[in-house]
Amino acid sequence: MSALAQILERIDADEVVELTRSLVRIPSVYRPGDPDATEARVAAFVEAWFRGEGFSVEVQDVAPGRPNVVAWIGDKTPGTRSLLLEGHTDVVTEGRPGDWSRPPFGADLADGRVYGRGAADMKSGLAAAMIAGAAFLRAGVTPRGKLVIGALVDEEGAMLGAHHLVRTPIGRELDAAIICEPEDNELCLEQRGVVWARVRARGRMAHGAMPEAGVNPIACLGAVLAEAPRLQARLRRRAERSRYLKPPTVTPTTIEGPARGIGVPQSNVIPAVAELTLDIRLTAGVDEDAIRGELERLCSGATKRFPDAKVEWEAINPFRLATRVDRSEAIVQAMIRGVREATGQRPRFGGVPGSTDGTVLRMALGIPIVTCGPGNRLIPHQVNEHVEVSQIVDAAKIYAASALHYLEA
Ligand SMILES: [Zn+2]
Repeated sequence: MSALAQILERIDADEVVELTRSLVRIPSVYRPGDPDATEARVAAFVEAWFRGEGFSVEVQDVAPGRPNVVAWIGDKTPGTRSLLLEGHTDVVTEGRPGDWSRPPFGADLADGRVYGRGAADMKSGLAAAMIAGAAFLRAGVTPRGKLVIGALVDEEGAMLGAHHLVRTPIGRELDAAIICEPEDNELCLEQRGVVWARVRARGRMAHGAMPEAGVNPIACLGAVLAEAPRLQARLRRRAERSRYLKPPTVTPTTIEGPARGIGVPQSNVIPAVAELTLDIRLTAGVDEDAIRGELERLCSGATKRFPDAKVEWEAINPFRLATRVDRSEAIVQAMIRGVREATGQRPRFGGVPGSTDGTVLRMALGIPIVTCGPGNRLIPHQVNEHVEVSQIVDAAKIYAASALHYLEA
């Protein structure tokens, strides 16, 4: 029997489903200030599971109560590769439990689905990656190179887990990664990027009855807002066309005058400072310098119209650029083959509308990433989140077959 057949034989559908349910039953919403609301418990479960299966395991303390669990089999020796199957252990809030038709952390199994917060995003993807790795060990197949499974923290926040991983030896030696996020098991070679730009206008405080005595930063932000559609058009001209993703968008999401922490709003006072946030979503082809240049242009345009005001911007998140990986990359080729062998079907391709931990890996390490995992991409963060059992089992097989081919090559 081929190594692939031996590995696939060790993937048991019921076990993948039960592991998913065990992970969903451990709540892992991160709530700042609450020491019990972190990824710690689910991370401890994952660590014990890996150790029980015979993986090498490293626990990386990213923040108090927030450990990355990184497990691997094999070694990266000269001429071989290291592949990461990446998942995250945090989930977003369940919201009001009464809005759910099933308990958010009950992991109910019904109608061929597992229900619960994190069922799709992404405890099923993590479970599939864990079982895929374990199948190598159980089949007695040592991969050429190194197969790493990462259960990282804080993907839903600042992606601290991924930022930590890329600075560690095991992260720095990675050659490629499969991001196990819910994408209906499509091979997603592109992800949108996101930049949150805070634009601040400084004017001069004055009485609302005598506006000529002041400089109105709110009117100045009005000029910025009026220019936003043109900024969007310029970014679209710079971006590469995508078959799978919407073109760049520039969306004002907050506006405050006076700016937070600078006085209280009063109807008869022109504030000294006002701020707004632009939520900028990107597709491939727009780099950091281009965005910075466009935002500078936006601010200097507003300053020209309001010469006595000062308009500046700053990024309030680390830049998350769009990612795109070429179909000719070895990891993509291995996955195309892996999907065929694991499911008997031709791969479907897609794109990720948001960014993931893969964005950090791609930007920091320059490695190719493919996002592919069980679950409908629209279902995360909603009530009654669920995942199809058949997709979880397919994902485990896809990961195992793809890993074998990528590391073998
Ligand atoms: Zn996710």
